[in-house]
Amino acid sequence: MLETLKEFVCCESPSTEKAAADACASLIANTWKRRRVQVEVLEQKHRGAHLRITHVPEGGNPRGQVLLLGHYDTVYASGTLLKMPFRIAGGKIFGPGTFDMKAGIVQALFALDALQQLAAPLAKRIVFLWTSDEEIGSESSRKLLEAEARRSDAVLVLEPALGPQGLLKTARKGVGDAEIIVHGRASHAGLAPEKGVNAIHELALQLTRIKQWNNLTRGISVNAGVIEGGTRSNVIPDRARAVVDLRALRIADMRAIEKRLRALKPVSPGAKLEIRGGFSRAPLERKHSAALFQRAAMLAKQMGLKIGECTAGGGSDGNLTAALGIPTLDGFGAVGDGAHSPGEHIIAKTMPERAALLAAMLMHS
Ligand SMILES: [Zn+2]
Repeated sequence: MLETLKEFVCCESPSTEKAAADACASLIANTWKRRRVQVEVLEQKHRGAHLRITHVPEGGNPRGQVLLLGHYDTVYASGTLLKMPFRIAGGKIFGPGTFDMKAGIVQALFALDALQQLAAPLAKRIVFLWTSDEEIGSESSRKLLEAEARRSDAVLVLEPALGPQGLLKTARKGVGDAEIIVHGRASHAGLAPEKGVNAIHELALQLTRIKQWNNLTRGISVNAGVIEGGTRSNVIPDRARAVVDLRALRIADMRAIEKRLRALKPVSPGAKLEIRGGFSRAPLERKHSAALFQRAAMLAKQMGLKIGECTAGGGSDGNLTAALGIPTLDGFGAVGDGAHSPGEHIIAKTMPERAALLAAMLMHS
């Protein structure tokens, strides 16, 4: 497992560098081609290829499908390995993309190996989908993964687990960005202040209003992360803009926030508001993961492993599949810490445990 992980990590695959991502896709494809599976390399125009790998049970009469979903792209630009090399120390494996989520792909590969070597009886077809652009919003993979999810009875997402206990993610917040653009009227701040409509003042009033929508106990957060507007202090600005991060734990709350956003009215006479964007990934509500988690917990117990669950504040492609009503369990991948940071690592001894749990899950699907 370590050797395979080393190969995958040492082949850097930033989402935004197509040639590098394609090279990693073909490395991963070649590794899977050495198994009894069908490997499809789905070339993309602007991004790395997506990989669809299909395992059909012996006898070839599957009763349904399980989708194993993940991504091989990382947030690290080519050359990051020089500062952040693949290394093993104190039972931890460091390197860009180890935790998020190349180890998850390796674990899935070895789960499949275990099932094939044992000639385990499987009822369902297994589709592994490794995409190239999850870290930048899944634009090129969204249709593909949603179509594959619709054909599936369940989706297991090989994204990292949470914390040293490797908690599975049974709920994820929905996320999105909204833009609030204020159109005012420019004027000279000294000579004709009465003719101006100050877009910055108006934006400030709107931001004060939406700040009240925060409700952390319900899992709703609204965060103005970027503001811009104005040219000089003696000019009444005619335009100002804010980009706001939106999060919600419940679909009903997501809808309510979007509705309130669209219903915002200007406070200053003469100002106009333009609202763009909104949630891009709906929440993964626990009801979509509960049954799968219960099965995973029961199997883990039989195997002498402990697993727990948590709610994640960030979104993943699991949000997209759950939004279609397909049972989805996320965080089935590596155990470790430090995603998207120089200290990114996984805990080596958990790799075979997680692969075994995944194999058990597939046998009981
Ligand atoms: Zn990820």
